[in-house]
Amino acid sequence: MSSDCDVIVIGAGAAGIAAAKELSRQGLTHTVIEGSHRIGGRAYSEEVAPGAWFDLGCAWLVGGAVNPFVPIADALGIELGKDKDTMFELENHRFYRNGEPLNEEQRAACVRYYEVSDEAVFAAAEDKRDVAIADVIDLGHEFAPPHVGGLATSWGMDVDLVSTTDSASSVGELGYAVLNGYGNLVAAWGADVPVSLNTRAERIDWSGPGVTVETPKGTIRGRAVLCTVSTGVLASGEITFAPGLPDWKTEAIHNLPMGTENKMGVHFDKDVFGPDGRGHYTTWHDDGDMAKIHACVMGNNIASVFVGGRHGVWLEKQGQQAGHDFAVDRCADIFGNDIRKHVTRSIVTAWESEPWTRGSWACARPGHGHQRTNLKRAIDDRLFFAGEATVYGGQGTCDGAYVSGVETAQEIAVTLGVK
Ligand SMILES: Cc1cc2nc3c(=O)[nH]c(=O)nc-3n(C[C@H](O)[C@H](O)[C@H](O)COP(=O)(O)OP(=O)(O)OC[C@H]3O[C@@H](n4cnc5c(N)ncnc54)[C@H](O)[C@@H]3O)c2cc1C
Repeated sequence: MSSDCDVIVIGAGAAGIAAAKELSRQGLTHTVIEGSHRIGGRAYSEEVAPGAWFDLGCAWLVGGAVNPFVPIADALGIELGKDKDTMFELENHRFYRNGEPLNEEQRAACVRYYEVSDEAVFAAAEDKRDVAIADVIDLGHEFAPPHVGGLATSWGMDVDLVSTTDSASSVGELGYAVLNGYGNLVAAWGADVPVSLNTRAERIDWSGPGVTVETPKGTIRGRAVLCTVSTGVLASGEITFAPGLPDWKTEAIHNLPMGTENKMGVHFDKDVFGPDGRGHYTTWHDDGDMAKIHACVMGNNIASVFVGGRHGVWLEKQGQQAGHDFAVDRCADIFGNDIRKHVTRSIVTAWESEPWTRGSWACARPGHGHQRTNLKRAIDDRLFFAGEATVYGGQGTCDGAYVSGVETAQEIAVTLGVK
């Protein structure tokens, strides 16, 4: 393969696809290469049972109506669950300890602890104290285990490894659901972008004029390159840069390591949740097992069970069956042992060992909440970077990746002199 174009786009996830579309709008030619066999990246849906879709990666259009994928879904005729209800508000969060719901008094104390902890993180960020979340919350509190476990799913990292300022800069609550999968929506939206699949970038050479990208299928030449791969892939050294990246860029990559959130989608042969069962749960045991569960949220017989941070990585290493058993046990904590006989099958993710991302999303280390700016910053007007890790506000989201792709394509157009 050998081609000359204005811009070589590496990666066909939400950021790469959005960038390719915007580059076309700006009148720039581009070649999009994707290492894996499909587009979408971390947006990926699978059918757990006929007609019942499960998102292994993104599932929620964060922010609801303001999310850029809402008009995209509408234009494609893809149905969204637009009943943005109050399920994710703290007052509706349901807590189970050792298989029992908290009583009113315990619940009030638990909710208060969540609020006080969140306020402490925001206060630290406002004071520009970029420290670990663990440094500002009460880890000895009776209700620390569910909150700390929940934060590990939100960030993919345990609280001793998450920056207060990065955490506080993230905006948007879980919004609309895509009934047949967010991954399917992204794949449908990206279907009109020509992408060279199974084409891994191995080496980016910017020693001469322009840029060349070496792949197993040949070399591509362009005026600029836009790299949208995760910080996990960048940190792994699988893509070599010649000359090497400047220190400030390498530091940004290594201080935005990938967190891990794994999901288990458990499908049941009937509605085991009951009329009031739809909801957002946290279940934990005093011996340490903890998970977050979204039950029946798409209106189907699926429970999505979440586990993150060190626990998520550990569980992944135990294998698929262990993940399945863990998820069914946590569902049984809430809905009773009878549900076990209604389990049809599950899908268990393994994001930590997924070679094309090496984790779920990037999470700033304490003291490094500022690094997303450096990760995004272009080098020598030729090497550009986009993707979820490069934005503030929408970090770790699909819409954030989309926005980063569009904005960086516009920056490239200005740099290359199109506008
Ligand atoms: C478990 C989980 C739950 C999530 N839940 C939500 C949610 O509910 N809502 C939400 O908005 N977001 C959610 N996200 C985050 C969201 O999925 C991501 O932020 C977003 O999809 C990232 O898009 P991206 O384009 O930045 O990166 P990616 O999707 O990772 O795209 C990068 C692409 O680069 C390719 N690539 C890698 N290496 C190479 C190489 N050497 N050469 C060529 N190509 C390469 C990869 O295969 C990939 O396709 C979730 C993610 C996970 C993992």
